[in-house]
Amino acid sequence: MASQPLMNTYARLSVAFERGEGAWLYDEKGNKFLDALSGLAVCGLGHAHPAVTRAISDQAAKLIHTSNLYTIPLQQQLADRLTQIADMDTAFFCNSGAEANEAAIKLARLYGHSRGVENPAIVVMGQSFHGRTLATLSATGNRKAQAGFEPLVSGFVRAPFNDVEAVKTIAGNNPNVVAVLVEPIQGEAGVRVPDDDYLERLRLLCDQNGWLLMLDEVQTGNGRTGSYFAYQQSGILPDVVTTAKGLGNGVPIGACLARGKAAHLLKPGHHGSTFGGNPLACAAALAVIDTLEKDNLMGRAAELGARMLDDFRTELDGADYIRDIRGKGMMLAIEMNQPCTELGVLAKVKGILLNVTGDGKVIRLLPPLTLSDTEASLIVGVVSKLIKIFAADESDGASA
Ligand SMILES: *Cc1c(COP(=O)(O)O)cnc(C)c1O
Repeated sequence: MASQPLMNTYARLSVAFERGEGAWLYDEKGNKFLDALSGLAVCGLGHAHPAVTRAISDQAAKLIHTSNLYTIPLQQQLADRLTQIADMDTAFFCNSGAEANEAAIKLARLYGHSRGVENPAIVVMGQSFHGRTLATLSATGNRKAQAGFEPLVSGFVRAPFNDVEAVKTIAGNNPNVVAVLVEPIQGEAGVRVPDDDYLERLRLLCDQNGWLLMLDEVQTGNGRTGSYFAYQQSGILPDVVTTAKGLGNGVPIGACLARGKAAHLLKPGHHGSTFGGNPLACAAALAVIDTLEKDNLMGRAAELGARMLDDFRTELDGADYIRDIRGKGMMLAIEMNQPCTELGVLAKVKGILLNVTGDGKVIRLLPPLTLSDTEASLIVGVVSKLIKIFAADESDGASA
């Protein structure tokens, strides 16, 4: 046995959790941590939510998996629920965000070929994140995710995020484009929120050119930004939407939803997944959707997220080390003027789990949608104080 048999793919913090309850995680020594990251936007209902626990234990006792050679009633139920919520027509189920985006990319290519475009291309954005498979890392706008893995998958054209004019220029120059793939709010890039009319203007441009508008809601979906999908706050409908993270509250499941001309492109033999949409994962997702609706957690995320933003602004606005405080619902960020990666470790020592993303200057918070007022105040209080101490130490260091 090798001394370290795990491949070295993650820079992990040295803590291991044994159990969780709501917004709290407990390590092997019984120390507790307030989880302001929800396993990277996955456990939106918090840890060990009783409705999800019940759904998966009941289902596990009955039937976990059959394969897609057979009808799976729970998969059909989940497709009904999701397409109804999203105003879409059809659903394909897989096991992760990258896989959901792979399905969307394949749909766009089929769509292109159906229109006689031999080398169909998809417009993707700067600083985007779409996953780690070869196609999705090629779509991702981050050289660090791509370096060493060339040759990349071709067929992607890049425009800066939140720049409709740049996409218009591409429309004028590139007859191969058949679709646009974009995150409504860029998550990994540091919770970058575009202009209010960005999606609406992209929708118009896609309509004018006969392109598919494909939204990557892997992170923003499932209630996180205050509506089931973020686009539901923009007054438009996409042709394709992908989601994953929060859909199963920790049970792996992804979905690619499609509408209109994109809804019936996939035919038997075109695409598939052995595990995709198995009874266990679908039971978890149905319990998640029931709970989001029954407990009005979307409304709660909108209201509590807005309050946390206000409170962070009251604590930190105007400080010379703060560049921006932004977000929507329970997807929040504090951008500093200086690199602050250590804050992830410092916050963990204070019992709060968060992460620093983007260019290492953005503190990202993705708390569970079930967060209480008291827990929210605790996060704002501890994180604001940590930022102030960190900034003071840094400026001492600089002047010393
Ligand atoms: C996390 C993420 C993905 C990738 O999801 P995986 O489940 O890790 O494959 C894709 N797109 C966005 C916007 C994400 O945040």
